[in-house]
Amino acid sequence: MRRAYKFLLRPTVRQETALAEMLRDHCSLYNGALQERRDAYRHVSRTSVRYREQSAQLREIRAFDPKHQGRWSFSSQQATLRRLDRAFQAFFRRVRAGLAPGYPRFRGVGHFDTVTFPKDGDGCRWDSTPQDKQTRVRLQGVGHVRVHRHRAVRGRVKTVGIKREGRRWYVVLSCDEVPVAPLPETGSIVGIDMGTVHFLTDSGGEHTENPGFLATMADELAKAQRHLSTFPRRTGQRTKKHRAAARKVAGLHAKIRRQRLDHHHKTALGLVRQHDVVGHEKLNTAGMTKAPAPRPDPGNDGAFLPNGAAAKAWLNRSILDAGWGQFLGILAQKAESAARRVIPVDARNTSRTCPLRIGGCGHVSGENRVTRAEFECVRCGLVADADRVGALNVLHRAGLALCDGA
Ligand SMILES: [Zn+2]
Repeated sequence: MRRAYKFLLRPTVRQETALAEMLRDHCSLYNGALQERRDAYRHVSRTSVRYREQSAQLREIRAFDPKHQGRWSFSSQQATLRRLDRAFQAFFRRVRAGLAPGYPRFRGVGHFDTVTFPKDGDGCRWDSTPQDKQTRVRLQGVGHVRVHRHRAVRGRVKTVGIKREGRRWYVVLSCDEVPVAPLPETGSIVGIDMGTVHFLTDSGGEHTENPGFLATMADELAKAQRHLSTFPRRTGQRTKKHRAAARKVAGLHAKIRRQRLDHHHKTALGLVRQHDVVGHEKLNTAGMTKAPAPRPDPGNDGAFLPNGAAAKAWLNRSILDAGWGQFLGILAQKAESAARRVIPVDARNTSRTCPLRIGGCGHVSGENRVTRAEFECVRCGLVADADRVGALNVLHRAGLALCDGA
């Protein structure tokens, strides 16, 4: 089993400078290699430069510029060139598919945030001071950087990544051969319905709420974005205030991401501990990127939210929605490491079917769903919490899938 870990780094001031220089030099390597490919592509001969050729030049580049390029790990530089190669492969794939692709772009120094070390022990060493209680990661050209290792690392460390997010630095480990630690069986199977009013509702009718801070943060973010939008979009020199406003927005986004991730971990862990099998709706990722249809005001029949409120609801919604794919990924990962099962089921009509599980009739109709909060079957008159109905139908389908599979 594979697994990724992400830990906060606590670099010294000098190490932080070195980390920033490492990103800057990798960025310039990336841009230089991109320039070479661009020139070749635009040349009448339409020749293409490949990864192999660019990688072969690395030794010279390093020898030519020992103070910058020569300072960093050779393998990490190869990884950066490979990243560019992947961007080109994706570009050519889209060209062949007849889409309108964007040509790979130059990266600004502030927007180049990761360096990968493809192999632990090559230019980097995870847990470089095992005799010490403090965990450190050694990086070529930077030194032994302190790691806030908030959980144990299991399995074998394969790759090590360094990532900058705002002003924070992280190390990302990818491990394989992670041992499975099965949890004791509970005999319970559950269906979950993911929503916007509640983060999720399970088939027992239990709601898990969205963390309250997200709504507060949405307000704060809206304010910061409004402030940022008062600055002209393109100026040669950004003013101090403009930069500060942009930093504020980026910082809030990062904070929201961190807190949401934490919430996802906790929720997924709770589900995996309590149930042997968890059924959930298959995500319709194409549908999720579409703007939502206007929603009726739940407290006022037939009325729609006023414009300002709708805009805020939209922002709220996008903050809350953005996480479902991530949540399901975490859930699947936790389930795998605990020898639990997760079953994605077809989401069609889960909210419109009268649930058999609690004595309903199975009637499917668009008219069944009366309001956002309450379900009422037009045929048999069954009344239930609307989100729970979704979860019950998911559970029903997961149960069927289980029977088919076993
Ligand atoms: Zn019914």
